[in-house]
Amino acid sequence: MRCPYCATLENKVIDSRLSQGGEVIRRRRECEGCGRRYTTYERVEQALPLVVKKDGRRQPFDRDKILAGLRRSCAKRDISAEALERVVDNVQRAMVERGKPEVPSTFLGRMVLEQLEDLDAVAYVRFASVYREFQDVEEFVRELERLRTGADSEPPEELDGRGEPGEPEVRSDAGSDEGSDAGSDEGAPVDS
Ligand SMILES: [Zn+2]
Repeated sequence: MRCPYCATLENKVIDSRLSQGGEVIRRRRECEGCGRRYTTYERVEQALPLVVKKDGRRQPFDRDKILAGLRRSCAKRDISAEALERVVDNVQRAMVERGKPEVPSTFLGRMVLEQLEDLDAVAYVRFASVYREFQDVEEFVRELERLRTGADSEPPEELDGRGEPGEPEVRSDAGSDEGSDAGSDEGAPVDS
């Protein structure tokens, strides 16, 4: 592991801990060159779906790219690096749980936004302004207004689903219309 400050390769691990339900090992390291400390994360490599960009190109999921975008959006906000790692972890989990070999990049953007909305309003707006490419100032203001009033245009999907893995989630848009009131779930009340 190369020291991010001085590029020395030698370091010693001074602390190791499991986090996030045992999915990640976080290691605190001390550089043997400059003595500074940094953190590394170790996780099992998953077979992740490919990301389909707006222009149709496929790319492997790039954790660092999402993190970099998040860091830009969260610059000078009081948000820990770990909180950002968690956001990406949740996005990654949502991707895998979707159970498809490919995932549109818009899905990733939406997942990030949903979490930022809970985390930090300023970071949310910054990320949204890049990701959503607001057409005009009015659209941007409408979004701000929506945030301020807390009105939600769509019910948020369960993101930090701590549910049992392997239990398929049944969604209302899955296309199965059972019962007599099919099609009337449009205006279902949302708990707030
Ligand atoms: Zn160093």
